[in-house]
Amino acid sequence: MATVDGVLGPIDTQDLGFTLMHEHILIANWSMRAAFDDWVNVEEHIEYAAAELRSAAERGVKTLVDLTPINLGRDIHVIREVAARADVNVIAATGLYWTEEPWLGMWTADALVDWLIRDITDGIQGTDIKAGMIKCATDHLGLSPLNEKLLQVAARLHRKTGVPISTHTSCEHRNGLDQIRVLQEEGVDLSRVVIGHCGDTEDYAYLEEVLASGCIIGMDRFGLNQVLPMDKRVSTVVEMCKRGYADRMVLSHDACCHIDWFPGGKAGALMPQWNFRHICDDVMPALRKDGLDDETIRKLSVDTPRRVFEGQGAY
Ligand SMILES: [Zn+2]
Repeated sequence: MATVDGVLGPIDTQDLGFTLMHEHILIANWSMRAAFDDWVNVEEHIEYAAAELRSAAERGVKTLVDLTPINLGRDIHVIREVAARADVNVIAATGLYWTEEPWLGMWTADALVDWLIRDITDGIQGTDIKAGMIKCATDHLGLSPLNEKLLQVAARLHRKTGVPISTHTSCEHRNGLDQIRVLQEEGVDLSRVVIGHCGDTEDYAYLEEVLASGCIIGMDRFGLNQVLPMDKRVSTVVEMCKRGYADRMVLSHDACCHIDWFPGGKAGALMPQWNFRHICDDVMPALRKDGLDDETIRKLSVDTPRRVFEGQGAY
């Protein structure tokens, strides 16, 4: 039996079911939280997020991967409480975001690995909850020296533990390809890597170049219609299935129950479909209407997520 570490304990990979592969329960700046007790109303947030997660579960979602990195405010106590109240599998991540924070400058990749590996081997924030995913990110600054180091950290954590990697990219800057190059140099098995945010583009040539590495791609920002509207995201998934990549994509929203990048923490007024329900309510029916059968939808939502965690399957 293969298992993956969830925040409520190990999960048999056969029980993962319909898995949202890239979401966020809470994104909140740790410094502001430390400085101001009421920066986040934690109890109110936990109630709200648990209800959001439960509403996804009522629609068939069995597992949610919380891909919040340490320095976007990952709070394992909040994540665990939300998972427990909603009674849904949640898998937490370790790793660092792409932002060029001064404190990161002098640390070597291996020194950072020595710190972060404790999230996987011992537990996160003094708990026994182990990270089941490794996060890394590249954005508009591209493959800077710091970013290359952070990608090396993710790669080495993966090589030491076998925990899969899931990334943030900017399609506009085509930097999934930069990530792949660094991960390949580090000897990572690309079938255990999800190159994220690939659903933000209709550039099929770019997507096929990324897929040529053997990785999985994340069609993982459904609901962020300002970046690319739903109909275009749906037609991209359908076209990639036609091109033979039905078992190489995973689905998600990258939605955040609370994100302090927006004053007040809620993005819903601006992006009403950016929540854990949108794929079930709107995207699945649209994929079916455009011709995807149940078997293909199962690959996208159940089988490929499971394979990422199990580390099985040759491409
Ligand atoms: Zn994200």
